[in-house]
Amino acid sequence: MSLSASEPARHRVVVVGGGFGGLQTVRRLNGAAVDVTLVDRQNFHLFQPLAYQVATGALSAAEVAAPLRSVLKRQSNARVVLAEVSGFDLERRQVVLDHLPNGRRGERLDYDTLVVGGGSRYSYFGHDDWKAFAPELKSLTGALDIRNRILTAFEAAEVESDDDRQRGWLTFVVVGGGPTGVEMAGQIAELARDSLRLDFRWVDTRRARVLLVETADRILTGFPPSLSHKAERALEHLGVTVLVGNTVVDVGPVSVSIRSESGEIEAVPARTVIWAAGVAASPLAAELASADGSQVDRVGRITVKEDLTLHNHPDVFAIGDMVRIVKGDGADMALPGLAPVAIQEGRYVARVIRNRLTGRATKPFEYVDKGNLATIGRSKAVADVKGIRISGFVAWVTWLVVHLFYLIGFQNRLLVITRWTFSFVTRGRGARLIGESRAETAVPDS
Ligand SMILES: Cc1cc2nc3c(=O)[nH]c(=O)nc-3n(C[C@H](O)[C@H](O)[C@H](O)COP(=O)(O)OP(=O)(O)OC[C@H]3O[C@@H](n4cnc5c(N)ncnc54)[C@H](O)[C@@H]3O)c2cc1C
Repeated sequence: MSLSASEPARHRVVVVGGGFGGLQTVRRLNGAAVDVTLVDRQNFHLFQPLAYQVATGALSAAEVAAPLRSVLKRQSNARVVLAEVSGFDLERRQVVLDHLPNGRRGERLDYDTLVVGGGSRYSYFGHDDWKAFAPELKSLTGALDIRNRILTAFEAAEVESDDDRQRGWLTFVVVGGGPTGVEMAGQIAELARDSLRLDFRWVDTRRARVLLVETADRILTGFPPSLSHKAERALEHLGVTVLVGNTVVDVGPVSVSIRSESGEIEAVPARTVIWAAGVAASPLAAELASADGSQVDRVGRITVKEDLTLHNHPDVFAIGDMVRIVKGDGADMALPGLAPVAIQEGRYVARVIRNRLTGRATKPFEYVDKGNLATIGRSKAVADVKGIRISGFVAWVTWLVVHLFYLIGFQNRLLVITRWTFSFVTRGRGARLIGESRAETAVPDS
């Protein structure tokens, strides 16, 4: 099949990125008189909000990812192309594809309407060399790498007779006190105190130290201060040391340097560091901005209009984490990098495309904020739903229901609910396998 195959009369929509935003656009175009091509460099949609459960062995990879072909198999006007998008020719209305599965590069895909939702990645604040020692959770590969490192650290502590070295293996540093950092820190603490406690003979896994380092003066800054403080107390109850007002200033293979509020720098021996700080837009935002002649902001997001189109190309939409929306009066909509934002934007774009086909106008995009949730370990969470603040078990149940609702695929929902029920009752974690990359992650002591 040719890459740009389409009946000449049909409107061709190309969607780049099968994440939260792009996938919604494609699904909402089901039945419309258009041919949709979804391009993604991965053959699956990743449910990022549960990636931390893969990283801590609570869920397996297939339970939080759904193959794009399977998601779209009943949508006859949509097809999937596995390829990396490397550029845009907006004048010729073409997308440039690289790394096609047949080895081809530089192929071009024609469109009439283009939608780009390339997401974001973590930023190491100009210290990309830290990445090798402090992996991030943005991808499935990252989550599996972190799982290998955490589980390997406990294995190393089990065979380590030197006390100081053992302490290094049992120290886990999570950088960034946003929802992901809080979730990771809580889960590692539970892993050490509950799930692994009886599995080892020599090492007492309960001696593990989990440090959560946050530069701001509180964790979960997207939540009201009262909920941040409740989350902090819940984490401390689990055994996590919360270091607010502290900044990680260096990361190496065997230690992390942390600058305290007073300016003192301490090198903490730690063999496992997880990066959950600072987000930057996908490089696709800069590619698109340069093709359009528009701007990117400090974190690399492309500025779009309030109908989510580019400034100089009304046939091109950009959505999700990689955009910043500026209204007609010049005000920034200032939306957070969250799944509901990308989902609502994806749906909106599908509506605009449908309306344009019939010559109807569409009102500017408006975000409906349904609230904010973060979980802390096995049975606690905080939730801020339209000003109603809840915490503890009720918030946790809300969190469970919301995540199951948004998880793609009936089979995944069933598997996840079964796993969660089992883990809740037994405190066990079924996906604690160490992959073959273990040898690369374990740096020997000198
Ligand atoms: C660990 C973690 C936990 C999170 N937890 C929550 C949460 O609890 N609640 C919440 O609301 N939000 C959460 N988020 C944020 C949420 O996941 C994002 O806001 C959301 O995924 C953004 O959707 P998107 O469509 O913009 O991008 P994404 O969902 O990231 O999708 C981008 C897609 O584009 C593809 N792509 C990128 N570049 C290319 C390219 N060059 N060529 C081809 N394909 C490409 C990617 O493979 C991917 O499939 C979390 C994020 C992370 C990383």
